[in-house]
Amino acid sequence: MKSLWSNKEAKDLSGVDLVVYTSRIIGANTNLVLWGGGNSSIKIVGQDHKGDECRILWIKGSGSDMRTIASKNFTPLRLDDLLPLATREKMSDEEMVAYQMKSVLDPKAPKPSIETLLHAFLPATHIYHTHADAICALTDTRNSRKLIHKVFGPSVALVDYVRPGFLLSKAVFEVYQNHPDLKAIILDKHGLITWGETAKAAYEMTIQMVSTAERFATAQMKGKAVLGPLQVKPLPLKKRQAAVAAIAPVLRGELSRNKRMVLLHEDASDLLKFIGSEKAKKVTQVGPFTPDHLMHTKPWPLLIECKNPDDPVALAEAVRKGCVQYRKRSTDYFNQYKPEGVTMLDPNPRIILIPGIGMFTTGKDVRAASIVRDLYLHTFPVIEAATAIDAYRSIPIEEICQFEYWPMENFKLSLLPPEKTFSRKIVLITGAAGAIGAAIAKAFIAEGACVILTDIDLKKAEELAKNLNQQSAGNHAAAIKMDVSDERDVHRAFEAATRIFGGLDIFISNAGIARTASVENLSLSDWERSLAVNATGHFLTSQAALKIMKTQGLGGAVVVVSTKNVLSPGKDFGAYSASKAAQSQLTKIMAIENAADGIRVNMVMPDAIFEGSGLWSKAIREERAKAHKIPVEEIEDFYAKRNLLQTKIQGSDVAEAVLFLSSDRAAKTTGAILPVDGGIKDAFPR
Ligand code: ZN
Repeated sequence: MKSLWSNKEAKDLSGVDLVVYTSRIIGANTNLVLWGGGNSSIKIVGQDHKGDECRILWIKGSGSDMRTIASKNFTPLRLDDLLPLATREKMSDEEMVAYQMKSVLDPKAPKPSIETLLHAFLPATHIYHTHADAICALTDTRNSRKLIHKVFGPSVALVDYVRPGFLLSKAVFEVYQNHPDLKAIILDKHGLITWGETAKAAYEMTIQMVSTAERFATAQMKGKAVLGPLQVKPLPLKKRQAAVAAIAPVLRGELSRNKRMVLLHEDASDLLKFIGSEKAKKVTQVGPFTPDHLMHTKPWPLLIECKNPDDPVALAEAVRKGCVQYRKRSTDYFNQYKPEGVTMLDPNPRIILIPGIGMFTTGKDVRAASIVRDLYLHTFPVIEAATAIDAYRSIPIEEICQFEYWPMENFKLSLLPPEKTFSRKIVLITGAAGAIGAAIAKAFIAEGACVILTDIDLKKAEELAKNLNQQSAGNHAAAIKMDVSDERDVHRAFEAATRIFGGLDIFISNAGIARTASVENLSLSDWERSLAVNATGHFLTSQAALKIMKTQGLGGAVVVVSTKNVLSPGKDFGAYSASKAAQSQLTKIMAIENAADGIRVNMVMPDAIFEGSGLWSKAIREERAKAHKIPVEEIEDFYAKRNLLQTKIQGSDVAEAVLFLSSDRAAKTTGAILPVDGGIKDAFPR
């Protein structure tokens, strides 16, 4: 492992700034810590609030991520308050946390790490704790004590597994007191602690220890088919993509019975080999490589047993069966090992391994599912290395349950902000790059949805997705090219869409074109193109969307962006109004046909949206101005004045109506028309 230490960068740093620097270079290496794992501290002499000199332990706050940590994520505690605890026999977690909070010198600081006392008791100035992959490959074996001694010699000690907290802090301190010349301490089935009088020494010790472990593990794996022969070969890319698109909604439906989940798919070639190997069935079911992963990953992944993953019927059956068995196993495990007074968490898996196809990870949003994915991308190589060395072992199952249901760990989850209205929902919008589509997409993203932007203009859709992701920092927008009038393209686009977040909950049929001419002068090609996009396009995309929703079995919502023209047509809009009328009629049929499946289908009917609209081209503006006998620059005001509220309609107004009809607030509404036209008497729905 390469050291990332830079004398140049560290030279002017001291105190908390220095530990921020070192924490970040630790966090930058995903083989050391991932997503909030590990912790770091520094002991300095400073001042308390009275201005009196005191020794201060600055430690990483609970839940912050070393990769991006800043000084505000560290908590100062009065060290001399903490040290007397080393002589106590026992202390409950709650007592310890309350005691620590009274020693915090800054009431605005985050809650200090659960491993605070461990950092306090060890006397070194700088301390780093990581869950290094290579170290865990050694500890997660049957004879880890012997092995650690063999690899590192007497200057490194192994502390038996104890759940983080008071007892672990004491156990580490006792080992240290008995051997003050130790270089580092390894926590069995958990991770590594290094220290030093300088930040560099403590950091370099981590790198040195991990490098030694890496060399040992690599040598053990050399020339061995560690996990036995490949039993299910990875499907070729195209077949695999089709299989992923077909199975994702089945899986999502199974996993979303309590709450909807977002699914991410991963098929790195090493992972595919691991999942398809002979021993995968056994080694994947042992437990996490460090307990910290549990709250994200659950104790085990679900490994689907299916010899023919390219047979969609067989695979769907295997997935359903696997999910049922997993839930039963989770329930049995909970009932057998649960700590007092806890309620059962979601019994569904977070990691689903499908031989030949890859891994799905789940979460309430993309971030949560990415965390699970990243953790398992580091777990399977640890399992493989530990198996090569000896045999993969995790903490005992009782301890797994104690940790999974540990209030201290679940407290971290309670710090998360409340979920937004469309959190966990997946939305697909057609014609998303246009003014109305973009306004709808923006509104959904702001309310927490995952949004797939489809448009015939991929560049514009990609640009929009990029902007939305930058604004929301959630990677919840994705762009796909789709020509709604082309059956094959619709099929391809919906397949691609399903692979992105795993399914579909809300479909917004918004793509449309307007060609104007009197019937007498209308060209056949304009007539046919209008029907192809506004009517056939709506039919093809709705059909594809409904299929995914029905496969999931979770209900859903369809909102169609219709037009006031359907109820109150205007001259020269023959191709537009007739094709939109076909769309409208089809929408009503969809409401009738899909209600039994919990899929609501509604329409919004906007009128005259000029702002950024592709429909209102210069030519149409001029043509309409002429038709109404007004100057072209007055066209927007003219349309505003003809509605009852005398107001201009904007994309965001349509978005409001679309979001309402898509939300649970409209749970009892289907087959409805919601005008967004400022009030036009002739277009009142009836
Ligand atoms: Zn830890």
